[in-house]
Amino acid sequence: MKVPLLDLKPQYQSLKKELDEAIIKVAESQYFILGPEVKKMEDACAEYLGTKHAIGISSGTDALLLALMALDIQPGDEVIVPTYSFFATAGVVSRLNAVPVLTDCDPVTFNIDVNDFKRKITSKTKAVIPVHLYGQSAEMDEIMEIAKKNNLYVVEDAAQAIGTQYKDGRCVGTIGDIGCFSFFPSKNLGCFGDGGLVTTNDDELAKKIIIKRVHGGEPKYYHKVIGGNFRLDAIQAVVISVKLPHLNSWSKKRRKNAAKYNEQFIAAGLAEETGKTKFDSKNKVLLPKAVYEKLSSTVLNYHIYNQYIIRVEKRDDLREFLTKNEIATEIYYPVPFHLQECFANLNGKKGDFPNSEFAADTSIALPIYPELSDDQIKYVVSKIAEFFKNK
Ligand SMILES: *Cc1c(COP(=O)(O)O)cnc(C)c1O
Repeated sequence: MKVPLLDLKPQYQSLKKELDEAIIKVAESQYFILGPEVKKMEDACAEYLGTKHAIGISSGTDALLLALMALDIQPGDEVIVPTYSFFATAGVVSRLNAVPVLTDCDPVTFNIDVNDFKRKITSKTKAVIPVHLYGQSAEMDEIMEIAKKNNLYVVEDAAQAIGTQYKDGRCVGTIGDIGCFSFFPSKNLGCFGDGGLVTTNDDELAKKIIIKRVHGGEPKYYHKVIGGNFRLDAIQAVVISVKLPHLNSWSKKRRKNAAKYNEQFIAAGLAEETGKTKFDSKNKVLLPKAVYEKLSSTVLNYHIYNQYIIRVEKRDDLREFLTKNEIATEIYYPVPFHLQECFANLNGKKGDFPNSEFAADTSIALPIYPELSDDQIKYVVSKIAEFFKNK
């Protein structure tokens, strides 16, 4: 049985008519860049997320870069980021000649270790970028409190977490000063190319972001500030507008799939419960834990499982075995920032961030997309059980 990591075709087929019509309408209008369709999408996203401003951006990476530019992050400023994330989280800091100051992650959620964040604050620290990794919220109450005390901006990297709710029901990306989202096709809400979104409740910041999105010209061709080309195009906007009403049902299906995996791994004797952080004979597979699950009956999207991550000791062997059995997997993220060549100047070394290194060495992402069938999930778990039986 073939199990791809992600198959976007069934989602496209289910909305084909609406999507095709919307794209043809853009072609007929020949209005491609920003414009009324982008505005419509922005308004819909602002309402869905519960934020004052939602601003369409060229990508999730550009959303992060533009957020830092709008906050006037200067060369030499320190910005605290987790060492275990997608590259863009730290890359954007360095692109502004600011310094990414790294923290470890929590061993259960993979999100920023709040105590390490507190320890890393200096007189040069200007901002922190918590990442809602794999679709689960970081500990925003604690982060906001520490940030407030130390006069720091909070830029939420919600690229993997559109629609994820914090324990109080607020959508992530609307809690800090600025939220950054990605519409990259493999995210839960993906467009037909690159795209992203910036959110804020602050009118002044929104104004700065909108001006810097078009090279900082205000009015056009008169520049008080320097921006860039961070524009979103109308084709991406209409795709998002068509897909947005379905996002919650897709997230629900991802959550169901995760629950099925968890149940079946436990039934197979490979794990005792979710959220374990150490391997032993009863926990050969460490399962992801949705830490805010069941805290409230009204919060539904406590985890949207952009990725379903398990951890195993012989990760690379398991991956090879699954590949041979036509099960696609991915390693997020094999090298934390402190061990990346391009960040050698940060003087990181092996052992600096044990939880992140453990995650990087043992995690493997299994297929979790909404249209995954029960048989496919059963097959994946049975093959992993087979792998361990032969060990
Ligand atoms: C995908 C992603 C980004 C970047 O988004 P792009 O749209 O690909 O530029 C940033 N941060 C995280 C955590 C991501 O997963």
